[in-house]
Amino acid sequence: MTKPVAPALEGWFTLDAEKPHLIGTQCKSCGTYYFPKQSVFCKNPDCNGEAFDEVQLSRTGKVWSFTNACMSLRIRSCLTRSSQSSWKRKR
Ligand SMILES: [Zn+2]
Repeated sequence: MTKPVAPALEGWFTLDAEKPHLIGTQCKSCGTYYFPKQSVFCKNPDCNGEAFDEVQLSRTGKVWSFTNACMSLRIRSCLTRSSQSSWKRKR
């Protein structure tokens, strides 16, 4: 029995297990790619495009920035597990 596959974010990537792709859009006027999808107007200041094609983006690229969200150790140490198996803050 296989588990049903469901995307964490609908429409952001393909569900192909072998070669998944991010799904973006490409401006029909200037060819600029967008991720997440752009569908209202092209953000290229030299373009007045308002039409886009949905495209599968390349599987390789360069990471320009990222965010790592963490919980403070101080807050984590204040959490204890109650007898009802739910998390509560210490007083
Ligand atoms: Zn454009």
